[in-house]
Amino acid sequence: MATKVVLIPGDGIGPEVSGATVRLLEAAKAEVEWEELEAKPIVGHRKEDADADPVVIAVNRVHVALKGPLTTPIGSGHRSINVALRKALELYANFRPVKNLPGIRTPFHNVDLIIVRENTEDLYAGLEHVVVPGVVESLKIITEHASTRIARFAFEYARRTGRKMISAVHKANIMKLSDGMFLESIRKVAEGYPEIEYREVIVDNCCMQLVMRPHEFDMLLLENLYGDIVSDLCAGLVGGLGLVPGANLGDNAAIFEAVHGSAPDIAGKNLANPTAMMLSAVLMLRHIGQGDVADRVEKAIHAVYREGARLTRDVGGDATTEEFTQAVIGALA
Ligand code: ATP
Repeated sequence: MATKVVLIPGDGIGPEVSGATVRLLEAAKAEVEWEELEAKPIVGHRKEDADADPVVIAVNRVHVALKGPLTTPIGSGHRSINVALRKALELYANFRPVKNLPGIRTPFHNVDLIIVRENTEDLYAGLEHVVVPGVVESLKIITEHASTRIARFAFEYARRTGRKMISAVHKANIMKLSDGMFLESIRKVAEGYPEIEYREVIVDNCCMQLVMRPHEFDMLLLENLYGDIVSDLCAGLVGGLGLVPGANLGDNAAIFEAVHGSAPDIAGKNLANPTAMMLSAVLMLRHIGQGDVADRVEKAIHAVYREGARLTRDVGGDATTEEFTQAVIGALA
């Protein structure tokens, strides 16, 4: 029986990359029944407001969604829909595997990192106010509960998949209380996993080490804001934002989405690279127990990259979104 999945096409390049991904999954005969919905800003701050949102209701019911990027206005305008959905659905773990693709030339080979980003608090709580004209206060919220929960997620994942090392990334030398508690919480969890090496690294030093010696890292465990920034840095290590998939995972639901945003500069031009979205769908297929289809889709993507003749502009080719998608469909075994 087909698994129901909520499809949120998103905006900007979202409809192009999600359309390409849906076509690929149909060609691969994935057993998925899509329920397409448009995500809109959640009005109001109460839990009941979020619980009444049609997308929140649908994802809570079917438990899985594939989502394109949604633009967040800069400076003013509505709050981020992406952040609101993660909070409303308690998708506390943001999981981002960063790996080289065959044929993409980058300064480093065999990069294989897992980023685990706390997804519900930190400066993303959006608690800002004007203290007096000219002075704004923005609150960074870190709790022991959320820090322990994300640490457990990371260490459990490492144990299950044989990962060897987790580096907690922080700025506890400056934010002694908040980042200090983040680290304290992780240390307690780490004690229960003696087989996994545990390290701590200050975020600025981490950035430098990553661009010089990425192989010295295995899994990175970060608060929300550092996780956002370091994710883009890591995407750059393997060829850019068009390539890195992601998942937002909670106990009841999961939303799979690319690391990139809506890229308004190339929206509607048939130029976007749908790989990150397609690889997010690969993660989704594994999550819903369709690992065989996931493997075939992933192999087809790798085959097109290995051949290198029909790649999109962001990775040095001249193919359109559509031409690349057709190439991947043609490479399905
Ligand atoms: P946000 O803050 O919304 O997460 P971002 O900072 O991740 O967004 P994006 O809009 O994703 O920024 O992208 C930054 C730039 O990277 C874009 O302007 C675009 O040129 C490029 N880019 C991102 N995604 C893709 C893609 N799938 N294909 C090609 N280029 C992309």
